[in-house]
Amino acid sequence: MEHIPGYDEWKTSAPEEQEPVAYCNQCGDPLYEGDALYTVDGGICEKCLSDGYRRVL
Ligand SMILES: [Zn+2]
Repeated sequence: MEHIPGYDEWKTSAPEEQEPVAYCNQCGDPLYEGDALYTVDGGICEKCLSDGYRRVL
């Protein structure tokens, strides 16, 4: 089996790991780039918004 130099290093580093841009003020979930942050209650996530502010009629 051929050994590829640097392959293990590449494999173990997580390229899809993102740094959270912000945290939800209510549930504390990390929010990443591209996620929706609603600027109520100091900044909350979509889940908390629909839990706390959406009413199904
Ligand atoms: Zn939340």
